[in-house]
Amino acid sequence: MAVVNARTKVVIVGAGFGGLAAAQELKGAPVDITLIDRNNFHTFQPLLYQVATSGLNPADVAYPVRGIFQRQRNLQFRRATVDAVDWPAGEVVLSGGDRQAFDHLVVAAGATVNDFGIPGVAEHGFPLSVLPDAVRLRNHILGRFEVADVDPTVVDDGGLTFVVVGGGPTGVEVAGALAELIDKVLHRDFRGSRVDVRRAQVVLVEMTDDLLPPFHPRSRRYARSTLVRRGVAVRTGTSVAEVSATRIVLADGDEIPAHTLVWAAGVKANPVAAALGVPTGRGGRVAVQADLRLADHPEAFVVGDMAAIDDGSGGLLPGVAQVAIQGGRHVARLIERSVIGEGDIHEPFRYWDKGNMATIGRRSAVAELPHDLRLTGTLAWVSWLGLHLVYLMGFRNRVSVFVNWAWNYLTWDRGARLILGSGEGEATTPADPTVDDAPPPDVA
Ligand SMILES: Cc1cc2nc3c(=O)[nH]c(=O)nc-3n(C[C@H](O)[C@H](O)[C@H](O)COP(=O)(O)OP(=O)(O)OC[C@H]3O[C@@H](n4cnc5c(N)ncnc54)[C@H](O)[C@@H]3O)c2cc1C
Repeated sequence: MAVVNARTKVVIVGAGFGGLAAAQELKGAPVDITLIDRNNFHTFQPLLYQVATSGLNPADVAYPVRGIFQRQRNLQFRRATVDAVDWPAGEVVLSGGDRQAFDHLVVAAGATVNDFGIPGVAEHGFPLSVLPDAVRLRNHILGRFEVADVDPTVVDDGGLTFVVVGGGPTGVEVAGALAELIDKVLHRDFRGSRVDVRRAQVVLVEMTDDLLPPFHPRSRRYARSTLVRRGVAVRTGTSVAEVSATRIVLADGDEIPAHTLVWAAGVKANPVAAALGVPTGRGGRVAVQADLRLADHPEAFVVGDMAAIDDGSGGLLPGVAQVAIQGGRHVARLIERSVIGEGDIHEPFRYWDKGNMATIGRRSAVAELPHDLRLTGTLAWVSWLGLHLVYLMGFRNRVSVFVNWAWNYLTWDRGARLILGSGEGEATTPADPTVDDAPPPDVA
């Protein structure tokens, strides 16, 4: 006799912050969940910049999804890429043509890099969005020093000039960590080399007049002056007009010889947003109702970076982890209530802003917490470290990150400064900044 499974089918697309939160919140619910992600791991994006600057290993900031849900009996993980949704059939369409049926759908596929169509950024820029980006950037940065070791004349051509574009938290964090890596670690590594590592430069370019736009002016001033004290050239009020492998042209006409452009200037919704075939708004984000449902498909919700969520004052909620986590939990609760017979609940999503943080480097950070509590310096830095350890997925990762940070703090050493992959920085290609930076297959 055939067994009929009448349990409600919930499909969650994306095992990022929003998708994981929704899946975990549904742990005890009488539903069958299929969690789909193109990767078999969750990435902790806030620490990607530490992988790129050799502070952490890739495995410290990623965690296998199957491991997270080993004990959650109502969830199956499926590694697949979602291409579209067939609304009439109630199915998610996967790459290769396979389909996954749903009664309720939660889409949390996140964001991707936005190069705003600026010529050369896609070809020559180094984005920092997914784990392979961080490894690729690390390869490239370390490779530049190996190239300069063989042929110090590349320094005159910008071989050791690292331009970071975007003065938000990611750009500030990359610039600060890069300056520290060069000053405290590579400076010692290359003692005796023909290249003078002190000639390396980090330039931070921000289009608006100040860094960290959402922060209080005092925090912004602190971030800027700390970066400058650590040797970063901060250029605000100008943007990037064009990029080649060795030159960055700014909108004010200046040209910076540089072989590295780190692109931390903007994101847009993941292409899955457009594939849903529903209205989208700024940055391609999906227009959602106050309860995060789609107007034309009330069985479906969009959360996190992909969703355009009204902040109540005419703007949109920011693309940060807390918005995704709280949104994921909210829609999970609505789904559970509907499954246990309360009907379709349209309770609006209310975001609890727990504050903003950005770190600039050792014992320097800015933290803005509820009730106008603003911290800078060591206290903010320690808060930043603690918070990131708490939110990091997996006990092993927490221990590993803690040990790495303690080691880095005590010794100024960064054990993860490895060039993985072939070609980067080898003596045969001393002046060629376009050598293959592809990460090895095991991290791609
Ligand atoms: C470098 C960097 C630093 C950041 N730092 C901070 C910070 O310090 N603090 C903070 O609050 N926020 C930070 N953010 C933002 C924060 O990471 C995002 O707001 C958050 O990850 C959004 O969660 P999400 O669930 O919407 O998407 P994500 O966490 O990005 O998850 C999306 C998931 O969907 C999967 N996916 C994508 N497309 C498909 C597809 N077609 N099929 C199947 N699966 C797919 C992806 O593999 C991914 O696992 C940072 C982001 C970046 C890039």
